[in-house]
Amino acid sequence: MAGLSLKHIYKVYPNGTKAVNDFNMEIKDKEFIVFVGPSGCGKSTTLRMIAGLEDISAGELMIGDLVVNDMEPKDRDIAMVFQNYALYPHMTVFENIAFGLRIRKLPKEEINRRVTEAAEILGITEYLGKKPKEMSGGQRQRVSLGRAIVREPKVMLLDEPLSNLDAKLRTQMRSEISKLHAKLGTTFIYVTHDQVEAMTMGTRIVVMKNGFVQQIDTPKNLYNYPGNKFVAGFIGTPQMNFFEGTLLKKGENVEIKFEYTDSAITVPYSKLYKIRPSYLNGEKKVYIGLRCEAISLDPKAVKTSKAVIKVRLSHKEELGNQTLVYGDINMDGDGYTESSTRIIIDAKGETDVEAGKVVEAALDLDKIHFFDKENEDCILPRIPEYNYIDCEVKDGNLLFLGSEIKLPAAMQCENCKGELLIPTDAVTLGNDAEVDVVDCENINGTNLVSFEIAGRRMYAVCDKEVKKGKTKLAFDLKKFSIISEGNTVVESMPQVMTFNGKLLKEKITEEVTENGKTKKKKVVKFSLGIEDAKFDAPEDISQKLISAIGVKHVFDEALRYDCGPYDLKFADEGISAEAVGLADYGKEKFVICKVGEHTVYVSSETPVTGACHIVPDIGKLSIVQCKMDIRIV
Ligand code: ADP
Repeated sequence: MAGLSLKHIYKVYPNGTKAVNDFNMEIKDKEFIVFVGPSGCGKSTTLRMIAGLEDISAGELMIGDLVVNDMEPKDRDIAMVFQNYALYPHMTVFENIAFGLRIRKLPKEEINRRVTEAAEILGITEYLGKKPKEMSGGQRQRVSLGRAIVREPKVMLLDEPLSNLDAKLRTQMRSEISKLHAKLGTTFIYVTHDQVEAMTMGTRIVVMKNGFVQQIDTPKNLYNYPGNKFVAGFIGTPQMNFFEGTLLKKGENVEIKFEYTDSAITVPYSKLYKIRPSYLNGEKKVYIGLRCEAISLDPKAVKTSKAVIKVRLSHKEELGNQTLVYGDINMDGDGYTESSTRIIIDAKGETDVEAGKVVEAALDLDKIHFFDKENEDCILPRIPEYNYIDCEVKDGNLLFLGSEIKLPAAMQCENCKGELLIPTDAVTLGNDAEVDVVDCENINGTNLVSFEIAGRRMYAVCDKEVKKGKTKLAFDLKKFSIISEGNTVVESMPQVMTFNGKLLKEKITEEVTENGKTKKKKVVKFSLGIEDAKFDAPEDISQKLISAIGVKHVFDEALRYDCGPYDLKFADEGISAEAVGLADYGKEKFVICKVGEHTVYVSSETPVTGACHIVPDIGKLSIVQCKMDIRIV
């Protein structure tokens, strides 16, 4: 039994296909993880990298507390079950299950015990003497499960194991595999393209598309809080309804207008605090997402609802437990064609649908989703990135939510009125303002604190749980930005400093002492070339670069080094820079330096001017191969 850790995992096939990009995940012992997504999204490649059947191009894979990147599949203590069973036709079921154990030369009694136990768990004891061809698809898949479980692996990997079975058997085997997982208490990783399979089996699901992880969450959270339109549409049947529309803030309300219709509804602004104000101008196009059960045709619901739209009915689908009513919110739409006005409603029981009839439908505003029309990201996220607040700059002071803060030198600007962007990670416990904490929600390990200040709701991401009630918070001003009339008048300080360079190699002569004798020996030394400077490359870093890029190209590849402003310091030697200014944030000061084409901020208590040298903390550097955009370290 073991957990797994996948850090910045990439797969680039020799033909240049980038099948997996920056896959990051911590899998706990005993979890049932499902990788799901359409064909070609990279789920099998990821599974095969875990199994050791495919090389990892970059990144670090741990099973338990061992890094297994270079470990042979047979040494990884995993077992894999495939779609096509891969049974030996000439062997009995017993022999098929025992095969791997015999290869590993386990004692006969031990093999008998394990095979008998596995057969009992899987309900195939009576078939042990039979050949695979005498068995059904479901039974054969049980045999291949048996072959995996007798190995008593730390991790079970299953690649679309049910795809060859008919619908009924699939449903049955689904619950059997869940039962098996509960019984064995082993970590399971399961690959499927079927979202129902994923939703019913996974404790957590990884949704993938085009080689990128879209979202990792529990089935319930994926359904209720999809992070983008792809996840929203992929999870759940029938698919979520997506309408095009615009949002317009009018005082304390927001009007939601549906495109191609004259329908509009009004929502209290308090429900949409997490949305960026630039989406609320009545012009920026968004997708409005509503699942079929968030729409009601029940006359009582329509009568009491504050959010009603007109629907022209077309037809219905009777599913026994569900009646899906189809229609269109565009009075010229036909309700059959999939479009941004077609609507599917769960009518919850028997309903008469008269084609062409126009009725009213009530929308559940607590279950409404919004996505950016262009990048399709959720714009009403569970954990918002920013708080958006009206503000004013007057004579060097920042006025917002009844507070007045003297702007530090780095943030001075002309008098103006505008919008203040306070990142949720720029608010911590401290002494700047007294607020009323109304909620602290743990969302996948992140504490989202909701608090009120001057009657306005704000959010902060905290590393600690914060109790409800009055508390004092501090603001990290360098992360603030101010936008006035569409222009950024105060920019937040960059958090990532960037340098260019290469991995360098040189042969040097070293004096080594062996058996009391001093000898000269030629050794290869690796260094990190960062801009015009050279730093010793730690062994683990040079090895990671070499194994990711390959020894043939690694010394020619352009690298990008990233680090934070606190990971840099001034020294007598190092990267040549020109100190061009000071960013004074009051409590903290940073020297602004030009390094080649880059501007970097260096945390420094003492001022520095003119030509200078910078040294990074090598252990804190993150290194990216520029050509393929692969984060290697
Ligand atoms: P999935 O399992 O989600 O269907 P895969 O992991 O099999 O997807 O494939 C991901 C991508 O990598 C696809 O674009 C596929 O064509 C490509 N691919 C898979 N195997 C190879 C290979 N051996 N060589 C080159 N490209 C490959």
